[in-house]
Amino acid sequence: MPDLNQRASIALQDATLQQALNRTMEHFVQGRLQAFAALPHGEALRDQARRIRAHTIAHLDEHLLALERSAQANGTQVHWAADAAAARKIVLKIARENDVRRIVKSKSMLTEEIELNATLERAGLDVLETDLGEFIVQLAHDHPSHIIAPVVHWRVEDVAKLFHQHLGSPLDADIPQLLATARSALREGFLQADMGVSGANFAVAETGSVVLVTNEGNGRFVTTTPRIHVALVGIERIAPTLRDLGTLLQVLARSATGQALSVYTSIITGPRRSIEEDGPEQVHIILVDNGRTRALAGDLAEILYCIRCGACLNVCPVYHNIGGHAYDSVYPGPIGIVVTPAIGGLAPWRELPQASTLCGACVEACPVRIDIPRMLLKLRAQSVAEGYAPGWLQKGVRLYARAATHPRLFRWAARLARIAQWFAPRSQGWSRRLPGPLAAWTKTRAFPPLAGASFSEQWEKRSHQ
Ligand code: SF4
Repeated sequence: MPDLNQRASIALQDATLQQALNRTMEHFVQGRLQAFAALPHGEALRDQARRIRAHTIAHLDEHLLALERSAQANGTQVHWAADAAAARKIVLKIARENDVRRIVKSKSMLTEEIELNATLERAGLDVLETDLGEFIVQLAHDHPSHIIAPVVHWRVEDVAKLFHQHLGSPLDADIPQLLATARSALREGFLQADMGVSGANFAVAETGSVVLVTNEGNGRFVTTTPRIHVALVGIERIAPTLRDLGTLLQVLARSATGQALSVYTSIITGPRRSIEEDGPEQVHIILVDNGRTRALAGDLAEILYCIRCGACLNVCPVYHNIGGHAYDSVYPGPIGIVVTPAIGGLAPWRELPQASTLCGACVEACPVRIDIPRMLLKLRAQSVAEGYAPGWLQKGVRLYARAATHPRLFRWAARLARIAQWFAPRSQGWSRRLPGPLAAWTKTRAFPPLAGASFSEQWEKRSHQ
């Protein structure tokens, strides 16, 4: 398995990916900036959203119990899943008890996180993704590469080729033709499905509702046409009240796609009532922990404020260049490199916190101002403490720390480095290839020449003039 650097190199050389990323990222970034600029109180709204998320996470236990009570009062069945295996088991049990054969799904990163589809398919169930991006991903046996735009790495011509192979549309189909093809393939699936599986953008503790925000309308079909609706909800995705939900929705859509509000906002409060004609007979909410309480208990609890808007991915110089697959985790980009080790443990994900320049663009863009660089530094420190940093780097930093805190030693080392640089291949005074592990730096850029005299030497000289 290639490591993060190797995967990043492959992504950087992929011209199709680069083209797709350049086009889409810029569109998202401009959309968000314009949406907030048009809002006179945009910054205050972000502050308010942060306060709501901070308060919710600080009192998560109370809000979860309130959600359970309200949902049950509406006739919704509430289940608790400690981990991915438990969540998969509950979905499977609901399906078996109700003779479910066909399942339609709306987009849910949580179901990607717990690898739900593979389990359902192994159990002989027919699973159909109905979000257009997820539908493409499923047809192509691919993986999402962005948390709100799963096929950001695909071009229209690639989708046309895929649909031509699987659905018989013309090879040169344009976007309206591709949409019509997908729509007719999916419509049949909705009508035949016994169970709809969705995620949730939020669950409202006050009313026991599940909230879905989409732009395609498939979420409404998934949650109303089949006789059973199962919503998988990460335990952190609580909005205490409908008023709080209103604030969060305002920043979510603007940050995600630059819209004032997404096209469809569905608030699902229990199964169909006797006076209603449409809707499922059963609604289940599965509250999934899967490492979230681990994050809640440590230095990384702030990452649970995340409302999964994707804005931090769009502004991140690393994501912008390597796309989502190079991270090799369900959640890529700035949010992914913190939340993945926070909930899954650092050991299997120790590479991820390195995939950042710590430039802070993510904090600027984040609607709830999550301080991702602060948590990355925590994770990097933990990585060193647990012995994951390469030996040469640890020794190098220790040597540097010693030199930097002993002025005579520092001056001596600086002189030595100034002499040593003349032995490296150079071009116009810049070193083109540094030795040993430092060679990674000069692989794609040159290293500037060291100054003839250090700052303290120059300072000393001036004060004696
Ligand atoms: S960390 Fe902030 S910007 Fe990134 S996805 Fe979460 S809420 Fe959006």
